[in-house]
Amino acid sequence: MCESLRISHLMYVDDLLLFCRRDVSSVTQLVDCLQRFAQMVGLTANLTKSSIYMAGVDKTVCHRLLQITGFQQGEMPFRYLGIPIASQKLRISDYTILLDTLTRRVTSWPKVTLSYAGKAQLVTLVLQGMECYWMSVLPLPSGVIDRIYRICRAFMWTTSHPPIAWSELCRPREEGGLGLRDLSVWNRALLAKVLWRIQDKQDTLWIRWVHHTYLQQTDIWTWTMRHGDSPLIKQLLQIRDSILVASGSPSAAERLLANWFQQPRGVARAYDHFWDGRPPQPWVRTVWRSPIQPSHAFTLWLLARGHLPVRARQEYMHDRLCIFCRQSEETLEHLFFRCDVTSRLWRRTCEWLQMRPEMSTYRGMLRTFRRLYWKTSIASSARHVAMAALVYHLWGARNAWVHEGRRLDEGLLFRRVQIHVYRTLGVYNDRELCQG
Ligand SMILES: [Zn+2]
Repeated sequence: MCESLRISHLMYVDDLLLFCRRDVSSVTQLVDCLQRFAQMVGLTANLTKSSIYMAGVDKTVCHRLLQITGFQQGEMPFRYLGIPIASQKLRISDYTILLDTLTRRVTSWPKVTLSYAGKAQLVTLVLQGMECYWMSVLPLPSGVIDRIYRICRAFMWTTSHPPIAWSELCRPREEGGLGLRDLSVWNRALLAKVLWRIQDKQDTLWIRWVHHTYLQQTDIWTWTMRHGDSPLIKQLLQIRDSILVASGSPSAAERLLANWFQQPRGVARAYDHFWDGRPPQPWVRTVWRSPIQPSHAFTLWLLARGHLPVRARQEYMHDRLCIFCRQSEETLEHLFFRCDVTSRLWRRTCEWLQMRPEMSTYRGMLRTFRRLYWKTSIASSARHVAMAALVYHLWGARNAWVHEGRRLDEGLLFRRVQIHVYRTLGVYNDRELCQG
């Protein structure tokens, strides 16, 4: 195979692979070349960092080849350009380097001082970044994806009982998620690009090798799977089949691939195609509306999803009473709207910004704000910012009381909301804040 494609070596910076026949004469010639190169240039192979990999060689020849080269015998898988190279299907332990690097990257961030919104942003960057390289050349097994999620989950939440499943975070924002990427779908989208490059016969060594070894004279649409094909090839063919089914014919499938990858953001388009979406959630625009601060939007998002971990949702909790009034069970509705303490704060906020007080449930509140969404006046922005700030500070005050014993100061909390609104909008005149 190397012979017909005239591949004698692969080299990138100081990563060098040399190929030759598995016989004494070929290996002797190769060693000769290395020695002549060393005499001319003065660079010699580092014996401790060089290995020889053999396949289908009997023990005597193997022993002789090791003597000739002086190299140690290497075992598959080994890494080339950071990616494991194996003759068989990779095991989860072969992905340790990816998982370790990810863990190192994630644990280097200051977990405690970051807000949830900041953590979500960092997780997005990592999931879009480092594993992208692996996923564009390998199908990631579900066990590895689970471990990546576990690492990200441990960074994201300080508790061992996250308030919301990771799969929900991976939904687009319009569907009520955080817009993190679903790695298995992202992996398929990246591999669809590989399929496109094979179809397009791009001039790279690997694409030439795939055509030479697998497709021969056929195209990707008539390519058939063979026993013993690598997991990558099998995954590529599965993706090909799903695109064929969705498109209806090879020519339509070809147009679909071209439509994605001949334009910028092709992988994102492919991702949208493979993503099995849900209907959009009506409250999403209210929660992520500008200029609501991201950390406030995050708490509001958890409230809108009904996932803030109030005591009524925690089955193991013995004391389920509201910390503010000690009169009723701490449900979302009670804590944020029906409790005497919080309804007083809503009344003050509504009076201040001249809102009609319709805030008795969180669904009602989100409905009220949905009607305000299209208004672009300062008053509308002020009401959105105040609502999100009040929810954020109420939840913070509840946690400070529950976990640190710090009692709620209603006046101070209301003042914080006011200052936040003034600062965010740069308006310090209450009359101006209520216009529109
Ligand atoms: Zn209460």
